[in-house]
Amino acid sequence: MSNDIYKTKSEYLKQKLESFTFEPIVYDYGTVKSVGDGVARVEGLQNRVYGELLEFKDEVFGMALDLEENGVGAVLFDSADSVKVGDSVRGTGRVAEIPVGNALLGRVIDPIGRALDGKPLEVREFLPAERPAPTIIERRPVKTPLQTGILAIDSMVPVGRGQRELIIGDRQTGKTSIALDAIFNQKNTDVICVYCAIGQKASNIAHVIEQLKKNGAMDYTVVVASTASDSPATQYLAPYCACSVAEGFMNMGKDVLVVYDDLSKHAVAYRAMSLLLHRPPGREAYPGDVFYLHSRLLERSACMSEKLGGGSITALPIIETMGGNISAYIPTNVISITDGQIYLETELFHSGIRPAVNTGLSVSRVGRSAQHDAMKKVSGTLRIELSQYREMAVFTRFGSDVDEATAKLLRRGECLTELLKQGKGEPMNLFEQVATLLAYKLDVFENVPVKNVKSTAKELLGELYKTCGDFATEINETGKFTDDVEEQMKLFMLNFKENLK
Ligand code: ATP
Ligand code: MG
Repeated sequence: MSNDIYKTKSEYLKQKLESFTFEPIVYDYGTVKSVGDGVARVEGLQNRVYGELLEFKDEVFGMALDLEENGVGAVLFDSADSVKVGDSVRGTGRVAEIPVGNALLGRVIDPIGRALDGKPLEVREFLPAERPAPTIIERRPVKTPLQTGILAIDSMVPVGRGQRELIIGDRQTGKTSIALDAIFNQKNTDVICVYCAIGQKASNIAHVIEQLKKNGAMDYTVVVASTASDSPATQYLAPYCACSVAEGFMNMGKDVLVVYDDLSKHAVAYRAMSLLLHRPPGREAYPGDVFYLHSRLLERSACMSEKLGGGSITALPIIETMGGNISAYIPTNVISITDGQIYLETELFHSGIRPAVNTGLSVSRVGRSAQHDAMKKVSGTLRIELSQYREMAVFTRFGSDVDEATAKLLRRGECLTELLKQGKGEPMNLFEQVATLLAYKLDVFENVPVKNVKSTAKELLGELYKTCGDFATEINETGKFTDDVEEQMKLFMLNFKENLK
């Protein structure tokens, strides 16, 4: 090191020492009056803020959620066993914070920001778990599509960057699979993903992480995990933390996809917490502010204006229903907050129609503005055709005689249902989706038995790649489907149809 720099360094230190003033930090202390079930009542500790972190003995942390005249009610994050009546409690002057930044990619953290994968976490930036949602002026309309790779969704309930699309359905209907497929499909795009597990079995979370790793999706994904055995406070905090992690990336101008799996368990954790804090129960024993619980979370997904970097957060919240009842308290709340829902049905799932999307009850309120031009061109009448088919299929279930037009409607409906079936982890790119729907439009599979439709479609795509490979890159890159390309693909498909005979 040269003398020169040394001199400046020492001068710098000298200057620092001279300007150093000693200011004692005064911490407020209180005493635990009662503790049990993860909730502590503390006497003293006036002037706390809502959501402030409190430090108990042995580095156990809690969060102040009830601010009373002469004390606070706090929920504990870690095991409450070591907290005893009479212990002193310190106010930290901070609200719950979560690490953010690129260092989190590929990591698994808990809602308090600790790494769960055994490796050290080196982060410098933190964001509070609870933050106000971006204002109207800071946003721009949702216009850019976010491809999920699932044909039934991209064609009929398209999701845009910055949208909140609810995935709703009974247990074991493939909700998590749809969200994971959407994450896998972001490979080789610039989208970063955050998967938030709320109150799930640890084995389930391990399975999800394994799938993410197997598909090479962990490189661009952050997992925020809270298991069923965590305290209700930890589960309650999980989605807010996941959202802050996403906001960290959005502030860098990136597009982010967040999955909250699932918000029913989040509401249940909040109910447990509220009841333990002796808040009055309301409908279905949920506290009165359970709507605000989810609205303030989901309002934070946004598409930011160019001035603010143009990043976005797309949210895929998941809700589990009981017996298909979408009009229960929490499902209706979340349906009214989000910009549309993907409704999954047990009946469809068990009859082999997977993904089990009920297209009649699924909507996207952002609609076609979040769809590639190419997709718009081929998916126009799909919804109507499918609903007409479903309606007609019910009438003709008992093998009654049908006229020619109805027979055609039924045949085409069956063919479309078959084409929309898609296995787990088999995403389709835009070109494949457009080509499949164009083939359906041209009735290429007219003379193919229903059970062979899927394999014939696969064969057709294989042939198309061989002869029209350039179109694939063009469509995938530009999202456009020009008349010229359409004409050539049409010719090819009609030729393919001739050869099928
Ligand atoms: P839970 O209510 O337990 O969270 P879930 O609704 O999230 O369930 P998943 O765990 O995604 O459902 O899926 C349930 C089962 O269905 C899994 O075994 C999965 O492999 C299978 N499955 C999901 N989607 C498909 C699909 N498209 N094709 C074939 N199998 C599927
Ligand atoms: Mg699931």
